[in-house]
Amino acid sequence: MIEKDYVIGIDLGGTKILTMLVDQQGDIIAKVKRATEADKEPSKIIDNLKQTVVTVTEQAGIGLDEVKGIGLGAPGLLDLEQGAIIDTPNLNLKGVQIVEQLKEFGPAVFLENDANAAAIAEKWFGAGRDVEDLVYVTVSTGIGGGIIVNGEVCHGLGNGGEIGHMTIDPTSKLQCSCGNYGCWEVLASGTALARRAKEVVISNPDTLLRQMVEDIEQIDGAIVAEAARKGDLVAQGLMTELAEYVGLGLANLITIFNPEKIVLGGGVSKSWELLKPTVEETISKRVMKPLLDGFEIVVAQLGTEAGGIGAATIALLKLELI
Ligand SMILES: [Zn+2]
Repeated sequence: MIEKDYVIGIDLGGTKILTMLVDQQGDIIAKVKRATEADKEPSKIIDNLKQTVVTVTEQAGIGLDEVKGIGLGAPGLLDLEQGAIIDTPNLNLKGVQIVEQLKEFGPAVFLENDANAAAIAEKWFGAGRDVEDLVYVTVSTGIGGGIIVNGEVCHGLGNGGEIGHMTIDPTSKLQCSCGNYGCWEVLASGTALARRAKEVVISNPDTLLRQMVEDIEQIDGAIVAEAARKGDLVAQGLMTELAEYVGLGLANLITIFNPEKIVLGGGVSKSWELLKPTVEETISKRVMKPLLDGFEIVVAQLGTEAGGIGAATIALLKLELI
């Protein structure tokens, strides 16, 4: 039997922890999901985290000593050198030296921002395998991303790639979770789509969108997309408006990085066929033509597992196993 190297990738989210045992091919050998209990005290969250590590090795039938390293993808602003979480909105781990807490499993524990981890996963094992320069963009309740230049994540001083918080509309009165107004995230996320839909249905009570829910508050991005697919003009208008904002941010990213690919993930990428025409039109209007030669937008391939696979990939890279 060929000797294999295993690492663990952890995707620490606000609702759940997804932990997986991964080999050098990026294949998932075993995976475990557990509630984060994000509002509990830090020690409880850390216990949950450790429990997933133990469980995933048991499930795979290997000893903890056979695990070469652990990659941890965490949301928010991080201190990569200290292995600490500086600030994260939906997780009670502010200021926690998270890497230190996992050292009982061995010295090789590596921290990375969750969206950067997903970007790395797509670059090594997903839609960006064939390129060295890409921008990964995930549009769901918020907008996150990871910038990969020459095959490596662009960290800057540590927290580069917070693309959802670039200002897209300086006149906007919409405040973002980061405190700023008019961020890309408040204008182009699934949450933004739902907010606009709730505003619009009040003056358009006859739309299919209104009939699809009992209460206006139930409208979310997926419902708007479904109504648009069924031909509802109001919902189609909302998708076009969203696509313009998505395209505006993507145009800026293309202008700055001139990447080979933008890899689009998150819930909104499931409606890519509805957004594509307007996104492409917005990009071609705003980006200088030569930058688009050989450029393409592709949908992410690894779905909700990207964060965990990416965290594991970081461990593989740091340990020079790939
Ligand atoms: Zn923001």
